[in-house]
Amino acid sequence: MVKVLVVASSERDAGEALGAFSSAGDAVVLAYGKAAAQADAIAEYGVKVYKLDSDVMDVVFAALKKLYDDEKPSIVAGVSTKNNRDIMSRLAGLYDLPMTTEAYDVEVGEDYVRYKRGALSARAIATEKAPLPAIVLLAPRKTKPAEKKGGGSVEELKVEAEPTVKVVGRQEKVKGGVNLEEAEIIVSVGRGFKKKEDLKLAFELAELLGAQIGCSRPIAADLKWLSEDHWVGLSGKKVAPKLYIAIGISGAPQHIAGITDSKIIVAINKDKSAQIFKHADYGVVADLYQFLPVLIKKLKERMGKA
Ligand SMILES: Cc1cc2nc3c(=O)[nH]c(=O)nc-3n(C[C@H](O)[C@H](O)[C@H](O)COP(=O)(O)OP(=O)(O)OC[C@H]3O[C@@H](n4cnc5c(N)ncnc54)[C@H](O)[C@@H]3O)c2cc1C
Repeated sequence: MVKVLVVASSERDAGEALGAFSSAGDAVVLAYGKAAAQADAIAEYGVKVYKLDSDVMDVVFAALKKLYDDEKPSIVAGVSTKNNRDIMSRLAGLYDLPMTTEAYDVEVGEDYVRYKRGALSARAIATEKAPLPAIVLLAPRKTKPAEKKGGGSVEELKVEAEPTVKVVGRQEKVKGGVNLEEAEIIVSVGRGFKKKEDLKLAFELAELLGAQIGCSRPIAADLKWLSEDHWVGLSGKKVAPKLYIAIGISGAPQHIAGITDSKIIVAINKDKSAQIFKHADYGVVADLYQFLPVLIKKLKERMGKA
C-alpha cells in the first residue's frame, strides 16, 4: 500500500486528486486557502484532513514540508494549479523528488507511479513512469472525483514561517466575469477580427448560444481587447467545453494546446489552409464578416427571436 499526501486549495481539487489515487492506499489531505473552510466536506471522502487557514505560500510550504516529514508519503499529489506548482517544486528541490505536472490516467505500483500527459503542445500523449517517492500534479478536470464514504477527521495545523516575500498590497486582477474552465459552450475570437468593436458579432452569437467568450493570445495579451481570463491556450486557460467555436483563429499549436479536450470544435476561417481546420470537427471556410451575420440571423429565426 502506498501512502498519498493530497494538497488542495478547494474541495473539488481534493476530490479529483483522491479519485486519481483511490486505488493507491491511505491518503491524508492538506487543505489550505479556500479548502480550509471546506475541511469537513473533504473529510467526508473518508480521509484525515489537515486544515491550514492560510494562503500565504511560505506558510503553506512550511506545512507541506512538516507533513511530508511526519507522514512520509510515497506520493505527494494535487491538481496542477499555480500555487500547487509553486510549493511542490520547492519540495521537489529540497528532497530531490521527481515531479510531473498535467498528469492523468494514473496507475500506482509498489515503487513507481505511471501516468499520461500531453506532449508537444498536447499534440501527442506521453506515458511516463517515475520512481517513488514522487510528486504528481494532475491535469485539472480530467479525473473523476472520489466517492464520499464518510468517516474522516479534521485536525487544525498551526505553522509559522518566515516570509521570503513581503506582501505590500493586494489588488484585484481585472476580470471579464468569465469562467472558461466551467463553460459548456465557448465562442472564441482571434485576430481575424479587425477592430475591437467587431467583437460584438461574437458577443451576439455567444448570447444566443448561452456561451462564454474565449480568445487567442494576441486579443488579450497584445491588443488588450479582452481581459486575460478570456485567453485560451498553452499560456492561457485549458478548456473542455462541449462546443468550441473558433472564429478568425489560425490554430497555432499554443492555442490548440488549450482546446484539445473540447468535445466538438467548429472553426470559421477565410483561409482554407488554416491549421485550425486540422483540429476541427466542422469547418466553415468563410469571411467571418459575411458568415456571422447570416448565422446569427438564422439562429434568431430558429429561436423565434427574429
Ligand atoms: C510561448 C508562447 C506561448 C503562447 N501561448 C499562446 C496561448 O496560450 N494561446 C494562444 O492563442 N496563442 C498563444 N501563443 C501565440 C500563438 O503562437 C499565435 O501567435 C496565436 O495563437 C495567433 O492568434 P490568432 O490565431 O488569433 O492570430 P493569427 O495567427 O493572426 O490568425 C488569424 C486568423 O484569422 C483568419 N482571418 C483573418 N481575417 C478573417 C476573416 N475576415 N474571416 C475569417 N477568418 C479570418 C486568418 O486566416 C488567420 O488564420 C503563444 C506563443 C508563444 C511563443
